[in-house]
Amino acid sequence: MGEVFLEANGLYKTYGSGQGQVRALNGVSMQIFDGELMVILGSSGSGKSTLLNMLGGMDKPDKGSIMVDGQDLCRLRDKGLTRYRKEKVGFVFQSFNLITELSAYENVSMTADKAADPHIAEKMLELVGLGHKKDKYPTQLSGGEQQRVSIARALAKNAKMLLCDEPTGALDYETGKQILIELEKLSRVHGQTVVIVTHTREIGRMADRVIHVRNGKIIETEINEEPIPAERIEW
Ligand code: ADP
Ligand code: MG
Repeated sequence: MGEVFLEANGLYKTYGSGQGQVRALNGVSMQIFDGELMVILGSSGSGKSTLLNMLGGMDKPDKGSIMVDGQDLCRLRDKGLTRYRKEKVGFVFQSFNLITELSAYENVSMTADKAADPHIAEKMLELVGLGHKKDKYPTQLSGGEQQRVSIARALAKNAKMLLCDEPTGALDYETGKQILIELEKLSRVHGQTVVIVTHTREIGRMADRVIHVRNGKIIETEINEEPIPAERIEW
């Protein structure tokens, strides 16, 4: 495994107040290593999305620290957090979050790091097997294709870390599997750091490490010495 990319310490988060209070995170500490394929596993309501949003600088904990490159995300102002999200993080959501008025190509190119490569949007769409559909609009694409556009969009940013919140949740089994194979390829072939949140235990078998979350706490960290290729996982 690579060097530590991110280190979270003692994260707490409570939503609401009084009787309606929910403790979404109850003291979470973890590390993410450069280039690892990590699965965060837990049932619905266990705090997975809350944790992922914090790792991605989309939300702040009530208490705790998240160190990246020597700075604490939790102490950054909005401007610093925006820069962190922009430069270091790609997001893939269950609901794809594509802009319906824009073509696949436009959805990808709007976040692309053009300074790095002016043809990056096209290349990333080709990488996920959608080069021939770059001018289609989201409504003209299947769920799996839309999710692949959202992966291409995340990649075009050339972000250090890809955070995926239930990326197969809205897809049928076969398509979901293709997306997992795609994410695995990014990690194994391209060395990208990939974090996948899921409630499906079997998906954990493809990861280098599985973080088990329950009631806002990490109850176990599992290391897979020999991860199983996504292609061979069944659930
Ligand atoms: P998961 O992604 O594992 O399903 P979440 O992180 O979304 O879990 O939620 C953890 C807990 O926090 C749940 O009980 C959920 O209802 C609550 N929660 C999450 N976000 C909010 C919010 N914005 N306002 C109030 N409660 C929330
Ligand atoms: Mg969630």
